[in-house]
Amino acid sequence: MLDAHAHLQFSEFDEDIADVLVAAADVGVTGVIIADYDSALRARSCEISKRSGVWYCAGVHPWAVTDGLDVEAEVGLVAESLQDPNCVAIGELGLDWIRAKGDRLKGVQEDVFRALLDLARSQNRPIVIHCVKAEERLLAILKADGVPEAGGIMHSYSGSAEQAQQFLRLGLEISIGTSITRRNARRVLEVVKRTPMTALHIETDSPDRPPEVLDIERNEPAFLPYVAKAMANTLEISVEKVSRFSEENTRRLFDLGSATLGEVEVPHHDD
Ligand SMILES: [Zn+2]
Repeated sequence: MLDAHAHLQFSEFDEDIADVLVAAADVGVTGVIIADYDSALRARSCEISKRSGVWYCAGVHPWAVTDGLDVEAEVGLVAESLQDPNCVAIGELGLDWIRAKGDRLKGVQEDVFRALLDLARSQNRPIVIHCVKAEERLLAILKADGVPEAGGIMHSYSGSAEQAQQFLRLGLEISIGTSITRRNARRVLEVVKRTPMTALHIETDSPDRPPEVLDIERNEPAFLPYVAKAMANTLEISVEKVSRFSEENTRRLFDLGSATLGEVEVPHHDD
């Protein structure tokens, strides 16, 4: 199974990133995509992604959008990162209307979103969308502006099953996070049941929101099996099957090839 979305560049992982990746590999996680937050933390994402089985995205998270942000400069930096072969997508980008209380900040979030969406379409790169309580607006923009042919995911999807169908029709796929492990996960269970298995991904969104049964603060990729198990229960299929199809989907969408976590390069002998 592959963690389609984790923030390994955050300071929560500064002390023990190597152990975190070993722990993930030990429970069967074969890879991790680091979701970008802003240009300040991008160098760290890039550095961690030099390890086998780790990739990253470049984007501007809606929480990093502030009034007065130099949108052109930020988007320019994202475009530069796309030269890096380990940079596999544009993200996060999106709208979060719990964070953006005023119309002004909502407007800046939309400007940044549209600029990154433009870049994704012109470079034909997949996108990693963050959307909280702004699904209708986001759908309207995507319908007007268009989704890159390379597609993308709605990460930690929290909208309705009906809205999910609309995102799917636009060519996007659905990534499910640890909210599926919660007792009141009715809405997300409905989404999972109605999404084709060919369009489902799994993620931890580490370090946020560990699975509910674990009474701890920090989430990490090693907890991905909790998400896979909850999805398997919902679909009444085996964890192995969820693990297999979700990984295939994520590798296909982000064109990841076959590298896995913890792979050691074998020294080449000429004899
Ligand atoms: Zn995230």
